[in-house]
Amino acid sequence: MELGEPDSSGRRKPVPIRESEYELKIDMAVIAIGNGSNPIIQKTTPDLQYTRWGNIIVDEATMKTSKEGVFAGGDIVSGGATVILAMGAGKKAASAINDFLTSGSI
Ligand SMILES: Cc1cc2nc3c(=O)[nH]c(=O)nc-3n(C[C@H](O)[C@H](O)[C@H](O)COP(=O)(O)OP(=O)(O)OC[C@H]3O[C@@H](n4cnc5c(N)ncnc54)[C@H](O)[C@@H]3O)c2cc1C
Repeated sequence: MELGEPDSSGRRKPVPIRESEYELKIDMAVIAIGNGSNPIIQKTTPDLQYTRWGNIIVDEATMKTSKEGVFAGGDIVSGGATVILAMGAGKKAASAINDFLTSGSI
């Protein structure tokens, strides 16, 4: 693969290099990296709102989801990001959850 030309958003995406494929004899392949959301979430919780990539949509100020009493943050909201962003989301959600539990609404 190599990076192709920038698309309309200016982002370069990987494109296959012609005739660069080759076969490797192996017993097993373990895929051990990936940042995609687990599709089981949408299957088990269809009443949450999701992006087309399967990330949970929240109110960014409170991390409140479309489901009453459910809050989300971190990679499942942002897509693959960083620990510091996940911690920030957790802090915002904790404050909003406290408001929700003490006042019954936010
Ligand atoms: C290879 C790699 C390297 C990275 N390096 C860095 C780095 O150097 N610095 C940095 O800031 N970030 C790094 N990141 C990104 C960082 O790990 C994530 O942004 C961060 O961990 C997101 O935190 P999170 O709490 O949203 O999700 P996670 O840390 O993924 O936590 C989700 C948790 O939910 C659990 N879980 C999943 N399904 C269920 C279920 N059904 N029931 C109960 N529990 C469940 C999982 O086991 C997991 O413990 C890296 C990521 C990867 C993949």
